[in-house]
This record gives sequence, structure tokens and C-alpha cells, in this order.
Amino acid sequence: MQSQWSDSDAEALTARYSEQGVSQDLALRVYTSRLLGQDPKLVLHGGGNTSVKTRALDLSGDETDVLCVKGSGWDMGNIEPQGLPAVRMAPLLKLRTRESLSDEDMVRHQRAYLLDPGAPNPSVETLLHAFLPHKFIDHTHSTAVLSLADQPNSRELCDEIYGRRMGQVPYIMPGFALAKKAADLFEQDSSVEGLILLKHGIFTFGETAQEAYERMIQMVSLAEARLRRQRKSVFMPAALPGKTAPLAVVAPILRGACSIAECDDWRRMILDFRTSPAILNYVNGAELARYATQGVVTPDHTIRTKNYPLIAPPAADGGLDGFRAAAHDAADRFAADYRAYFARNNAGQAVPKKPLDPLPRVILAPGLGLFGLGRSKKDAAIAADIAENTVATITDAEMIGRFEALPESDLFDMEYWSLEQAKLGASKEKPLAGHIAVVTGGAGAIGGATAKLFAENGAEIAVLDLDGEAAARTAKKIGGGTLGLACDVTDAASIRAAFDRVVETFGGVDIVVSNAGAAWQGKIGAVDEAVLRQSFELNFFAHQRVAQTAVGIMLAQGTGGCLLFNVSKQAINPGPDFGPYGLPKAATLFLARQYAVDYGQEGIRSNAVNADRIRSGVLTPEMIAQRSAARGLSEKDYMGGNLLGREVTAKDVAQAFLHQALSLKTTAAVTTVDGGNIAAALR
Ligand code: ZN
Repeated sequence: MQSQWSDSDAEALTARYSEQGVSQDLALRVYTSRLLGQDPKLVLHGGGNTSVKTRALDLSGDETDVLCVKGSGWDMGNIEPQGLPAVRMAPLLKLRTRESLSDEDMVRHQRAYLLDPGAPNPSVETLLHAFLPHKFIDHTHSTAVLSLADQPNSRELCDEIYGRRMGQVPYIMPGFALAKKAADLFEQDSSVEGLILLKHGIFTFGETAQEAYERMIQMVSLAEARLRRQRKSVFMPAALPGKTAPLAVVAPILRGACSIAECDDWRRMILDFRTSPAILNYVNGAELARYATQGVVTPDHTIRTKNYPLIAPPAADGGLDGFRAAAHDAADRFAADYRAYFARNNAGQAVPKKPLDPLPRVILAPGLGLFGLGRSKKDAAIAADIAENTVATITDAEMIGRFEALPESDLFDMEYWSLEQAKLGASKEKPLAGHIAVVTGGAGAIGGATAKLFAENGAEIAVLDLDGEAAARTAKKIGGGTLGLACDVTDAASIRAAFDRVVETFGGVDIVVSNAGAAWQGKIGAVDEAVLRQSFELNFFAHQRVAQTAVGIMLAQGTGGCLLFNVSKQAINPGPDFGPYGLPKAATLFLARQYAVDYGQEGIRSNAVNADRIRSGVLTPEMIAQRSAARGLSEKDYMGGNLLGREVTAKDVAQAFLHQALSLKTTAAVTTVDGGNIAAALR
């Protein structure tokens, strides 16, 4: 591992922060924390922490000795000075004389000694930093170090590599007891440059930021060098079917298997897929079940990935019925095992814990790769990042010896530790969390408003539009992991390709807003049949193709689904010269009901929205001008010519689609969004 230290970068950052009144100590602490945090081989997603002992002014202007230590919720890779809150040293040090200190009391003390009462909670490893005497202390969960520290003979390995340069601390859960133990062990030989925390990670110390950082790089490099010696090259492969079914086919089946029924609906997960030669070497190994299901490589990961992944059965191309049954068996076993693990370990707890959901957060798919699972794409990607890191760590461990995880009771303590759960935040989930929604015509006014509203309600979104660039722009505006794809809904291959991309990106499809459409006009007795056919292509057949494709995916998942069609008041209340538009829309209204009839048993709901006079909906500005003139009305009066006398917007239509998506007992329904037009009211 190369040191990324640069004198000029360090000076530049120090100079920049000094203008903002940040001390050199803290500026350099920020600099090397970022260097460490930006390397996934050292630190992942909020893991690791760093500190500096320095002096700072308290609120009354008195200078005092403090520990600036990473605050909870900050990522080292992009940390700022305020992400390293200052805690008074003297009262922290006094805690060391205590026999014990509960986690809750530890947090209270740490907060009480903050210079700024509004600062984030100092790291749960604050006391460990405080009890060691060094000015700069760095802590990472280095992949290479863990490959050695997660071995049955990790002590001998560390002796061999580091000799007396590094102390060794047996596994203790982070908190007061670990801080005391680490400090006691350090004092037995204070010449060490750092500590290896067996089955957890590594600390290095220094009098300067550069010294602590360079020692981290050096110790990790020594571990890497050891991992290159006496090494096997690959895992013995398992016998797998010749050809594995494609990702777009496998993902919805796995996603469905990893869902559970919950209050009239399904608890669904978003998937994030990864593959590479290293991942395939790992997931295709004959002994996968042994090395992959022992436990996490460092306990911090358990809140993101659970203790072990689900191993999916191999998916032979063409043998999908067998795969589906085997995938459901595997997922059911996983959930049963998780519940049993919870019951076993909860039995001895002084204060009983509340079980978390029993769904896996990582799926290993032989022949294919791995999936991270989460209630959002972001959480799924975090799980996948950690899983990839785990593959690297365990592969290296197994290539020179044997991976050994902590006993499950230690992992349970960590998974259900209130201070760890607090990292995930207790915010209430949005109603469409875990859902994947596809919106066609997504770059238009109604499509865009609907995509945005569904995203605000927690769904992952794919914006499909004939204009791929406009789709990408809309997706970017919505943000998050929103996908923007070009899709010609009058072309079956284009629809297939777009839905495959959605499934490969998120794992499946739950909601489809079939919205793409355009208005053709013509007096029905005189209209060219070609115009009528063109309108039917877009305003009827496209809806049918989109719905058919979506239903195929929904059936593979087996967790129901929701089809939403943008119909039009024309479907029931024809306007003069709007036959070419109204006829296919009437057929699409029927289509919505036919899907409700044919797929209700599968839990697939199908509803429609009849919208009318929406500015920048299907009505172009020219059409609005033409139609208001024909009625002798101003544009404003025409657009607001309804019972409520108010203009109806794309957002109002989006709201109706959202209600239909959330109304779990509503199917074959039509919602009218037109401000009130009795001639277009449904009976
Ligand atoms: Zn740690």
C-alpha cells in the first residue's frame, strides 16, 4: 500500500483552514483522516476513526486540553473539522479509574465534556483514543490486517509479521472495557507503534499526523506482503451448471424470495449487483458454505450485512422452475435460521431486544456474482461494498490459512448494540421504501411530476422516455440513484431492453406508471386510417406491451405489483375531432380493467387516472390555444373551466397516481383529475 501523503497538499489544506480559524493540528488531522477514509481497503462507510490531542478554546474563551475525535455520522473520506468534535481531556481521563461504565453512561459522559454542546456524538471508541498518550491516533478496519487477524493462529501471524512493533489486543466489544484493556496492554510495552485488535482492526500512533498515518500504511503493507507469501491462487471450484441464467432473469426471482409478507403488503428490498473475477472465484468455490457463512470480518459490518449472507442455488439457464423453488427454500431457511439465532442469543439478555427483520442483506449467487440488499438503493450499495470487501478479506485469509470469525454471541451483541443501531438512524421509513417504480413518458410534465413524487415517497425510480437525454436530465434532477433511459414504447425490443436495465440496476419492478401518450386529432368520418393506427400504436399497444413486460417481472417476484395507466377523459367523454385519441384511450381503460381481472389473484393491482386539461400534459400550448378559441374562452378560463374553477396541474395527476399506488385494496379503479367535469364523471 502506497502512502498518499503529500507535503504540498498538507500545507495547502492547513493554509486554507487557518483562514477559517482552524488550528494546524486539526487541519492535519482532517488531511490524513481523509487519506485513510478514501481508501476502501482501509475504511468503508463510516467505519474507522481518528483523533488528535490538542488545545482549543471553550465557549467562554478559555484554552483547554481536548481530544478532537471523529464524530458519529461522519465519513472519514470527506470529513471536515466539525466532524472531529473537541472533548475535554481531563474528565475523560478520570473515567479510567472506574471499574466499569455502561454504554449509556459512557455516551452521557462523552457528550457532557464536549466543548460545543451542539456537536455530534463522539465516536464509541473515544475512550480508547483518550486513554492512549499519543498525539495522533488512527484506526482502520484494513482488509489486509483483518485477513491475518481473522485466523485461528492470528497471534502467531502477527508476532511473525510485526514482532514487538505492534501490541495485540484480544477481541472485546468497543466501549469502556476495550478502552481500558487496550491502554493496560499498551502500558506493558509502551514502545509499540500501534495495536492490532484481533478480529476487529488496527490502531497506529504518532507524535505527528504524518507519523501515525505512515505507520498505518507501513503496517498494512507488511500484512499485504505476508498475504503474498505461501499463497494458494484460487478456491477449488464447485460443479456448477454449464450456463447460468442471465442477471435480468435471476434477480427478480431472488428478490421475490427475499421478501416477506408484512401488514397487507410485502416488505421488499432493493438489490445492488456486483461481479468480477475475484467475486466469481469466491462464490463459485466448492467450500463456499464453510468460509462465507461464519460471520463478518469486523463486527462493525454486522449492522449493514447481517452476520452472514444468503447463498443462492445455482440458476441453470432454462431450468428456472427448479431454481425458483430452491431460491425460496434457501430464503426461508435463512429467515428461520435468523429467527433461531435471535431467540438463542436474546434468551440471555438482561433487557430483551426487539428482533430486526430476518431478510438477508447480501446474496451470493454462484455463477453470477453477489447482491447487496437494502430498503433503498443507497443501503443496498453499502451492503454490496461491504460484501465485496468481505470477499477480498476472506479470500486472502483462505489463501494463506483459514478464515475464522467471532462467535455468534459476540456478533449478536454488536448487531443489537443500541450504539450501533443508532448509527442507522431511527427515522421513519417512507411509504414506498423498498419499491421500484418505472415511469414511461417520464421526461414530460405528468411523467416527471409523478417520478418526482414517487421518489419523494421513498421509491427507486426509472424514468423512461423516447428522448433518452431528456430522461437522463429528469433522472438527474430527481437525484439519488434514479435511472434515466431511452425507451420507445412502440417497440417491444426497446421496452425489453429498458426493463432489463431496470431489473439489473434495482433487482425488479413493483410499480409501472404507463404514461407515455400523445394526442392525434381528426373528424372520425374523414380521418386517415394511418393516423388512427399510429395513435393506437402509442395510446393502446404501447400500454399493453409495457404492462405485459412488467407483469412478467412481477410474476417472477411473486409479490404482487401495481399497474397505473394514464388514460384520459376522452376514454369516456369524447370531444369533437378527438376520435383518434379517444378510441385507443377507451381501449386502454378497458385494458387497465382486464389486467385487474386477470391478475388480481396474483396480487397485481391495475388502476387508471383520467386527467383532463393539464397544461403541458398531452395538450400542447397550440392545442390549448386552439380549443379555448373554439369555445370563445380565454386560455385561463378554458384551463380552469371546471366545477372547482381551478387550474389542474401535472402535480395533481401525480398525486392521484400516488394514492392509487398506496391504496392496497383498490384495483380496477379510475380516478378523475379534472377539477370536476360532470360530463366526464364515471357512473
Ligand atoms: Zn473499529
